[in-house]
Amino acid sequence: MGPPADCLFCLIIAGRTPGHLVWQSEHAVALRDINPQAPTHLLVLPRQHHRDVAALAADDPDALVGLLRGIGEVAAAQEDLRNGYRVVFNTGAEAGQSVFHCHAHVLGGRAMTWPPG
Ligand code: AMP
Ligand code: ZN
Repeated sequence: MGPPADCLFCLIIAGRTPGHLVWQSEHAVALRDINPQAPTHLLVLPRQHHRDVAALAADDPDALVGLLRGIGEVAAAQEDLRNGYRVVFNTGAEAGQSVFHCHAHVLGGRAMTWPPG
C-alpha cells in the first residue's frame, strides 16, 4: 500500500505544497514547524511515508538511522540548541499525533519542563 495521496508531509517533500526545507539528506528532510512551541521548533521527517516512528523502525531501519543522524545534524547547525534540545515523536492520536507521516519534533531555545503535558 502506498502513501495516502493527501499526506501533507509527502506533498511538502514532493514540492507540491509550500513548505521551506531547511535541511535535506538522502533519507530525511527538515522544516520549521508552522506552529512553534519553542523559540526553535523543527520537524525532521523521513522522505518515505511511514505512519509513525515504530513503523519506520520496522520497515526501513536504514531510514530510521538516517532520520536520527539528521536530528543530530540539524540540531548542531542551530545556535539556539547548543545547550540542549528535546526530541519528541508523538505516536498515535492520544499522544497528540495529528500528521500520520513519521516526524521528530526538535525543540529548544528555552528551558524545558518535565513531565511533559
Ligand atoms: P503532530 O501533531 O505531532 O503530528 O505534529 C504535526 C506538526 O506539524 C504540528 O506541530 C503542526 O504545527 C505542524 N504542521 C502542520 N502543518 C504544517 C506545515 N504546513 N508546515 C510546517 N509544519 C506544519
Ligand atoms: Zn507521507
